[in-house]
Amino acid sequence: MSLADATKHFFEQAAAGLDLEPGVRQLLETPQREVMVQVPVVKDDGTLEVYLGFRVQHNDARGPFKGGVRFHPSVDLDEVRGLAALMTWKCAAVNIPYGGGKGGIAVDPFTLNKRELKQMTRTFISKIFPFLGEKIDVPAPDVNTNAEVMGWIVDKANELAHDDVRGVVTGKPIELGGSVGRTEATGRGVALTTLRLLKYLGQDPAKMKVAVQGFGNNGSYTAYYLSQAGCRIVAVSDISGGFGDDNGLDIPAMMEYCKTSDKHLLAGYPDASPISNEQLLEGDVDILIPAALENQITADNADRIKASIVVEAANAPTTPEGDKILAERNIKVVPDILANAGGVTVSYFEWVQNLQSFYWDEDTVNTHLTNIMHNAFDDIWNLAKERNLSLRTAAYTIAIERVVKAMKLKGMLL
Ligand code: GLU
Repeated sequence: MSLADATKHFFEQAAAGLDLEPGVRQLLETPQREVMVQVPVVKDDGTLEVYLGFRVQHNDARGPFKGGVRFHPSVDLDEVRGLAALMTWKCAAVNIPYGGGKGGIAVDPFTLNKRELKQMTRTFISKIFPFLGEKIDVPAPDVNTNAEVMGWIVDKANELAHDDVRGVVTGKPIELGGSVGRTEATGRGVALTTLRLLKYLGQDPAKMKVAVQGFGNNGSYTAYYLSQAGCRIVAVSDISGGFGDDNGLDIPAMMEYCKTSDKHLLAGYPDASPISNEQLLEGDVDILIPAALENQITADNADRIKASIVVEAANAPTTPEGDKILAERNIKVVPDILANAGGVTVSYFEWVQNLQSFYWDEDTVNTHLTNIMHNAFDDIWNLAKERNLSLRTAAYTIAIERVVKAMKLKGMLL
């Protein structure tokens, strides 16, 4: 099943319990706008490469379209379409005033040098600029993009707008209007939701063995904050391989190692034993946290997962078939649209600070983040209990109701 169809499936699962007219369903199952552009880049060797770039705007009933931009070879219209819809449900699930969008370029960024990457990013932004705006559509980092790339984006956008429009993108470097705490926010949010779940289940974090798939920004900070809370992180991995240690890995040391390692990857880390991706996903742990790409827990491996809790730090890491098997096996799943919403939540704080030109300290950012994540978790948990729903269906139910209410109040529906 494609990613767009998988997102539609989870939407429909929740919509089945709501009284939605067919026309409203159709509106929410399809994006408001899809943009596909050529992104030509002259490489240093003189050759011209043409990449495909996408921006999909799913729904803006509750506020500007919001969502990251990823650079990855698997990017295509279908993937971006599915991820854009996820952003609508994510922002509504945690109740921040945004709609959903997503962008991406089909490229392996590791094949480009810094100058080529910068040119590609600036060209992409100039092509989609007519559809962006501080109050219209606000991109941010996602897979293989970071604060540096956001810095290039804000510069290009300012140039095209003949204005200072720094709120047109979030996840910027602090010096260019970024927010303190944004870099750590997604992992911090994943840890907050994981710990909230443990509290509800009456489980002690110090007794938990955790595996984290993915050691980029999201996975590394997730592992870090959970280890700070006492959890034992026994396995982590990235595209270069995985490492395990049943006594608990030294996450700060691994983060430090990646600062100077080749392509910032874990390969060659000296102080733990190598493990395979299968060993990581199917290992003897209490909590499994997929924090890399989509389609990791599927019909092929869901019956071999030993964890009793899965926290979706990545977007769409579990396929509908995989999700069904986890549910049958009573494995608790904290869905992506809740678990990883910390990133877009601090993006929201960054945008508020940009629009007000008034900047917060780290305590203020983290206090607001904790409140939003806890409130969202509690509402979703309570609804799930009350109606005997999975946390995913409860999160979608709350999100869909909020979006439909906004559309109704705008007079878009009957
Ligand atoms: N790319 C992140 C996500 O999938 C963050 C989006 C944002 O900050 O707008 O949630």
